[in-house]
Amino acid sequence: MTTTIAPTKQSKSFKSHRGSYWITTFGCQMNKADSERMSGILQTMGYELAEEELKADLVLYNTCTIRDNAEQKVYSYLGRQARRKKSDPNLKIIIAGCLAQQEGETLLRRVPEVDLVMGPQHANRLETLLNQVDNGHQVLATDEQYIYEDIATARRESAICGWVNIIYGCNERCTYCVVPSVRGKEQSRTPQAIKHEIEELARIGYKEITLLGQNIDAYGRDFKAYEFNKSGQLTLSYLLEYIHDIEGIERIRFATSHPRYFTKELIDVCAKLPKVCEHFHIPVQSGSNKILKNMGRGYTVQTYKEIVNYIKQIMPDSSITSDAIVAFPGETRDEFEETLSLIEDVKFDLVNTAAYSPRPNTPAALWPNQLSEKIKIDRLREINNLVEKTAKKRNLRYKDSLQEILVESINSKDNSQLLGRTRTNRLTFFPKASIDSKSPQPGELVNIKINEIRPFSLTGSLL
Ligand code: SF4
Repeated sequence: MTTTIAPTKQSKSFKSHRGSYWITTFGCQMNKADSERMSGILQTMGYELAEEELKADLVLYNTCTIRDNAEQKVYSYLGRQARRKKSDPNLKIIIAGCLAQQEGETLLRRVPEVDLVMGPQHANRLETLLNQVDNGHQVLATDEQYIYEDIATARRESAICGWVNIIYGCNERCTYCVVPSVRGKEQSRTPQAIKHEIEELARIGYKEITLLGQNIDAYGRDFKAYEFNKSGQLTLSYLLEYIHDIEGIERIRFATSHPRYFTKELIDVCAKLPKVCEHFHIPVQSGSNKILKNMGRGYTVQTYKEIVNYIKQIMPDSSITSDAIVAFPGETRDEFEETLSLIEDVKFDLVNTAAYSPRPNTPAALWPNQLSEKIKIDRLREINNLVEKTAKKRNLRYKDSLQEILVESINSKDNSQLLGRTRTNRLTFFPKASIDSKSPQPGELVNIKINEIRPFSLTGSLL
């Protein structure tokens, strides 16, 4: 069911050339991948990418609601476009993504200039919904939706590295997280559809793919056993083996994992498959078992350490990154320090940190023992200092090492340099060859001698 609210008068003057568009994306890789899909649909409909946001005939905000500041940012953008619409009534304003799903009709009341509010599950229905807008309707599309395979080809940011969604939504119930209520239940894509998309990418020159899912290790559990995997349940391990031999693809990555489903079997398969890169992003969120319980995460610090130790045992050079939330309701100083000591113990390559932000429709937002903004800021500063120190120490292992780099592009900040990443996902810069013709091209794998390290990136020279 898609709700059409009220016919708008200005739609009659629709241009044959559909006009220009601009997409602004907030939030995670899933949103970036959805924006690439919607960009592909708009191009198929005859829209062209605008030079800049304020010149576009159609603006689409693909929104995030993981934290309050992400939400506030969207409203400031919308205010500007609403003012524009007063002088340009043909301007189309679309709100997509998680905030659209969370706020729905409220958004239309708050910003009546908006033409279409659509949840993430409707991303590949953009053409249908936009045609309703062109027929003079204001449209709300936030109902639960089965996500069919895309028809249009995504318009991707990179020509070397591609995102490939394998599972949408999340069935977990972490008490701080808004994702299940805005992205819905888990929907895994079939292995055949995923393989076909990757073969297409390989055919047009992609070298690296990143498999995407909010809770990627749970891939396949919404399918019946033996439905696709003759030996049992469809899993991420099975999928990695199934897509591994696609010619042309040199590297395979996946994100975002959940410690609850990060099995020894998966680690063994990653170690066995040469194309699977030695970088694992496994959010831990807290170093305190009491806080993990209150978060509803479903594992203990001990379990988490066992996973990390097993990875380090069979892939010693791999990089392990994570996410951590500080100042969760009721978190004591001691429990916070447990998170700090876990970071020191594990020696993460990187930890994305955030202070707890109460979100609508999440249990923890209603709990009485919320911590003050001061405590949040202090703990965030403290954990970020430690993360940077730990990452820098961890990065020492690259000094004077030889690293295989997949060249992605010229460094936009210094075009005498090229950039790419190690298999462990470390951003690396290196000078182009003195003679341009001798310079490696994007998509090439090159060996780089690392001579300079920083907390979160490296510099080296072409051998
Ligand atoms: S696993 Fe938890 S934190 Fe991650 S998306 Fe699902 S509910 Fe949110």
